[in-house]
Amino acid sequence: MRLTDHVTLLASGAAGFDLTDPLDCHVYLVRGSRRSVLVDAGAGRSAHTILRAAEAESEPATAPDHLLLTHGHADHAGGAAALAEHLPGLRVLAGAEAVRWIAEGDERGLSVDKGRAAGVYPAEYAFPPCPRVRPIADGEEIDLGGDVVVRAIATPGHADGHLCYHLRTPDYQALFSGDCLFTGGRISLQNLHDCRVPEYAASLTRLAALDVDALFPGHHEVSLARAGRHLTAAHDTIARGLLPRSTT
Ligand SMILES: [Zn+2]
Repeated sequence: MRLTDHVTLLASGAAGFDLTDPLDCHVYLVRGSRRSVLVDAGAGRSAHTILRAAEAESEPATAPDHLLLTHGHADHAGGAAALAEHLPGLRVLAGAEAVRWIAEGDERGLSVDKGRAAGVYPAEYAFPPCPRVRPIADGEEIDLGGDVVVRAIATPGHADGHLCYHLRTPDYQALFSGDCLFTGGRISLQNLHDCRVPEYAASLTRLAALDVDALFPGHHEVSLARAGRHLTAAHDTIARGLLPRSTT
């Protein structure tokens, strides 16, 4: 599903548009003139669908060469190993705090154990380790060509190592917000070991300073215009000493 000239939605599960496996987050393909990148990987059972859709959307010379993970939760990073296996040159990048968990498939670090116990993931679900993952630093940029640039923004709070990715193009700017921020200024607070309220509030304050036209979260609706209102809504609530409504 093409969303803008540069962004296509390749996968989306039950907390989205039901395009692929119910467990999948939104998986995006972002294209520039020289290369394309994937944002998030889904839970792992849609890798072939994602690869076929990416192939249909990009020339062979600009096939995705980076996978930018927003965080390690299985609905976002469980598909990293399968995508890396089928795209041998793929650079898999994640926030430093989550790298070891993703590389080793540490289900306690990634809270897969809690998700399974809660019935979010089926009993047979196992997180496939992705040893190829490497850290991407706050502020690091990836130039996709044609004045299309993606920049990592450290946004802990929903989970340790959470990153958002800011997209600059000649025509508009966008934010891939993972599970940090959703439309309407909603957030995702969960009873997990690395869900941290003060860090979350600081991340939302940081995001509110960004100039964005479009918001591409990890689940639920996307916003294609005037997306700054969603960032402002979350920040306004934080500024009053309250917490925005959580989607979960
Ligand atoms: Zn999450």
